[in-house]
Amino acid sequence: MSTMTTTTTTTTTTTTTATLFINGQWIASADAGTRLISCPADGEPVGTVSEATTADVHAAISAARTAFDSGVWSSVPAPERGDFLLRVGAELRVRKAEFARAETLDTGKRLVESEIDMDDIANCFTYFGKLAGQDAGRIVDAGDENVVSRIVVEPVGVCGLIAPWNYPLLQAAWKIAPAIAAGNSFILKPSELTPHTAILMMVLLDDLGLPAGVANLVLGVGAVAGAPLSSHPDVDLVSFTGGLQTGKIIAAAAAGTVKRVALELGGKNPNVIFADADFDAAVDNALNGAFVHSGQVCSAGSRLVIEASIADRFVDELVRRANQIQLGGPFDADAETGPLISAAHRDKVSAYVKKGLDEGARLRCGGTWGTGDLEKGFYYTPTILDQVERGMSVVIDEAFGPVVTVETFETEDEAVLIANDTVYGLAGAVWTQDAGRAQRMAKRLRHGTVWINDFHPYLPQAEWGGYGQSGIGRELGPNGLAEYQETKHIYQNIAPAVTGWFAAR
Ligand code: NAD
Repeated sequence: MSTMTTTTTTTTTTTTTATLFINGQWIASADAGTRLISCPADGEPVGTVSEATTADVHAAISAARTAFDSGVWSSVPAPERGDFLLRVGAELRVRKAEFARAETLDTGKRLVESEIDMDDIANCFTYFGKLAGQDAGRIVDAGDENVVSRIVVEPVGVCGLIAPWNYPLLQAAWKIAPAIAAGNSFILKPSELTPHTAILMMVLLDDLGLPAGVANLVLGVGAVAGAPLSSHPDVDLVSFTGGLQTGKIIAAAAAGTVKRVALELGGKNPNVIFADADFDAAVDNALNGAFVHSGQVCSAGSRLVIEASIADRFVDELVRRANQIQLGGPFDADAETGPLISAAHRDKVSAYVKKGLDEGARLRCGGTWGTGDLEKGFYYTPTILDQVERGMSVVIDEAFGPVVTVETFETEDEAVLIANDTVYGLAGAVWTQDAGRAQRMAKRLRHGTVWINDFHPYLPQAEWGGYGQSGIGRELGPNGLAEYQETKHIYQNIAPAVTGWFAAR
């Protein structure tokens, strides 16, 4: 498919709207509906894509069902499926520039960040490629020499994969790679704001020979293009990454057919700094934790929890550094972070900060929109709020923008209390040079990832996911593959005999 044809300095223009990929074919939507995608950094058009109708989504589900039931992929030996994923990883490295550029234009994030994302995505495919086929099941000792009892894993079936806009292809890859590894068919629904790398991924999977119907792509808003993936009886599993409220809607819709549900939702992640921490490293990482990708990160360190004795010095230094962060467009070599995804999202972040200030928080820096050249995009300056208290909306709700709050503590117990005082439980960090305290804190934090003296790293071989309302299930790691597998117990009696339980009359 020739999706991208004209390229200017900052934009790539889509000239075909046949951007739904269903049963191995590129098609336009049934009602010819389209959406213009614009770059959040400058509002320039990026391309026009199809918006699926409900009928299109049903066609995609049907194609995935037929492909799965035919065994065209599910019966391919697992190691061969793994080899395919290794080829996907290798090819992604070859096509990295094209993918990174498309991701950057859709999201407005710096090109260098998209390039890092593409490396991570390639590594994700490589990881699951190596993992595929390693689980040959297991023999269970039934305690009876006439019984052969074994556990085997099988694909779940048809998977609906729904992804957000902040790391569009990365979040999709955490689902696509294990889904393919396990032998499933799937329908991917990326965010309506960031469809282009999903399109490129389908091109790549098709180029490498994935059978028709195994991978399908529908585009459009959640209520139309996404909703059937959680409610349709022919979808066996829905895996969703996105906001908490949407997650609740999806879980409720999925309950109607009792399908498998995997949810990766938001976070309100504590970054706990003890007085004995390496000060410079902790400040630097607090900055990264809160402001990388302008805070549009599910694991952003949006709550600083600082030991009272160093809080003033720490926050003063953080404010000084935050004021120096350079905002700019994807191809601006001086830029250190980029815009928010949309005008609507910037309005949401602005309202969130305003509410915090109304509730009594103190603005230490930021709280403004980008000015000058930045007015063409949706920029929001790095924002630090202190003098916040438990119960304020700014310490409860996810802003999903460059906003960090500051709370203080006197004791380890108090630090734990504050850090765990959230309905979420995605990630948290502890900064201390006391190894014993670090381990105690790691054990007591009710979050799916705990960093000690670091912030943000993750590994494809380590599970990612949330406690509490940050989600259900895990992505990445061996459990990230298990999400896409059914477990079957096969029990064979090799010496059939009359049981005599009921009398033979
Ligand atoms: P969102 O919930 O608005 O949308 C996510 C996806 O769901 C989009 O593709 C959207 O179109 C779709 N959707 C919306 N309504 C739907 C419905 N009724 N049925 C089916 N699909 C529907 O989230 P967003 O704004 O795109 O992403 C930001 C959120 O994602 C943040 O809360 C962030 O914390 C979370 N997130 C979590 C992780 C994680 O690993 N836990 C990673 C990235 C982002």
